[in-house]
Amino acid sequence: MARDQAATALANWPELAEFAQAIAEQWPVKRRGFHHMDFPQWRVSVTVALMEVEAALDSWTGQADGVFLDGFSPALNPDMWSSAVFQRIAARVRPGARLATFTVAGHVRRGLQDAGFGVAKCPGFGRKRERLEAVFDGETTQRQRPQRIAIAGAGIAGACLAWQARLFGVQADIYDPAPGSGASGNPAALVTPRLDAGDNTISALFSDAFAYATAFYRRVAPEAVIGEGVWQCALDSRDLARFERISQQAGFVAGDLALFAPGDVVTYPGLHLKPALYISPADLLDRLLAGQAVIRQSIPENLSGYDAVVLACGDGILDRAIGLPLRPVRGQIEIAAEVTCDRALACGGYAVPARAGLLFGATHDRDDRGRDVRQVSREANLANLAKVMPHQAETLVGGLMSRASVRVTTRDQLPVAGEVSPGLYVLTGLGSRGFCLAPLLAKAILADMTGLAPPLSAATHRLLRPTRFARD
Ligand SMILES: Cc1cc2nc3c(=O)[nH]c(=O)nc-3n(C[C@H](O)[C@H](O)[C@H](O)COP(=O)(O)OP(=O)(O)OC[C@H]3O[C@@H](n4cnc5c(N)ncnc54)[C@H](O)[C@@H]3O)c2cc1C
Repeated sequence: MARDQAATALANWPELAEFAQAIAEQWPVKRRGFHHMDFPQWRVSVTVALMEVEAALDSWTGQADGVFLDGFSPALNPDMWSSAVFQRIAARVRPGARLATFTVAGHVRRGLQDAGFGVAKCPGFGRKRERLEAVFDGETTQRQRPQRIAIAGAGIAGACLAWQARLFGVQADIYDPAPGSGASGNPAALVTPRLDAGDNTISALFSDAFAYATAFYRRVAPEAVIGEGVWQCALDSRDLARFERISQQAGFVAGDLALFAPGDVVTYPGLHLKPALYISPADLLDRLLAGQAVIRQSIPENLSGYDAVVLACGDGILDRAIGLPLRPVRGQIEIAAEVTCDRALACGGYAVPARAGLLFGATHDRDDRGRDVRQVSREANLANLAKVMPHQAETLVGGLMSRASVRVTTRDQLPVAGEVSPGLYVLTGLGSRGFCLAPLLAKAILADMTGLAPPLSAATHRLLRPTRFARD
């Protein structure tokens, strides 16, 4: 159902107007995948799986306390009421979970019973004479949830963790001797997905993370959004063929990724990522950390007062022996104060309008943690700019400011999000996509920790877990 249709339907209940409006504002866009809505005012987080019901139940790894079956009429929409669906629901509920539905159709009752539910007919509502209530076998148990956690790092990863901790009702102490001084401290950053061709687990991770991050930043920190739309250049015909496939992928809204021709914007052809953002990291971190006191020191050695700890400390994690194959990759950017540009371009490197001028770069210096500014890096960045914006590059006459910081990458180029030892979690390996990945992965870590509904599919969860390197 489209947003407008939902809003029209919900308008029939004026007494629910407050909820209807909040839901309509975050209504999922039409793309295959997991969608997330956050309602901090009610401490509620919603995940919507937009896909066939069996695929959704196979992908979701949570354990539900309650289930409401609302799959349209069983006679008209039998796929939603099959025994295969009931069996999958049974695999996804806790002992003692409660289930309800409006139908008392015989095959629904029998299907639920066969799957392990005790079923009862009850008086219905409105025009319905009867309804079903069911309880899953077993005793309800009380779960232990962490009350107080420590987060190391106040870059984009730590800031997103702090925001999600509040949503999940967990008290968080954030430690950072110099908040925002790491890789998240550039004057502008792109929010773009990694572009993988094919509908697979990696492309689903990035399309889900991209959809969530762009909606999240617009909603929570609109003042941090500098602009919208990124023009991703194709450097050769293989790139272009890949972009063509990606523009059709089900993980993106149809039309959101559009091919452009050489000469439309630059001399290259490429892919226009319409909903991509360029943001001001400083404004974003301020907003995400508003009301949270960051303790200006390194995370202490003695963490016995905390139920769990998350290391989200950028390249600071490399000083700790946690047994993950992590590598630093230094990056230097330049800022040209006197140059203006009306759009963000990515072309091997990138050129982004920042509030302080045109930001361009960046270098990729492997196994290097140097934060010193280097002339050789500046020359490489200027040469890259000349490829896409020859005019701007030519007219640059000194006055450049540079900044170097360090990314963290993994052997398989994918992030790591999860528990490394009891109570110790990491959010690292964000590489060059930290601003796209951090909001969703922070949510995944809080969900893991609290045992609440996971936002990632089972396959994505497996892809990111720290133990994946153990067998190598
Ligand atoms: C040049 C360059 C350009 C980039 N451009 C983009 C871009 O356009 N878009 C994008 O998505 N990504 C970009 N990235 C990648 C992105 O910046 C990172 O993925 C992201 O910033 C990582 O965030 P983080 O919070 O993990 O780490 P950081 O931002 O590095 O933050 C780590 C924080 O931890 C603190 N810390 C360190 N040790 C400790 C300790 N022991 N205790 C407590 N705190 C500690 C540090 O002070 C720091 O504030 C770029 C990276 C570079 C280097």
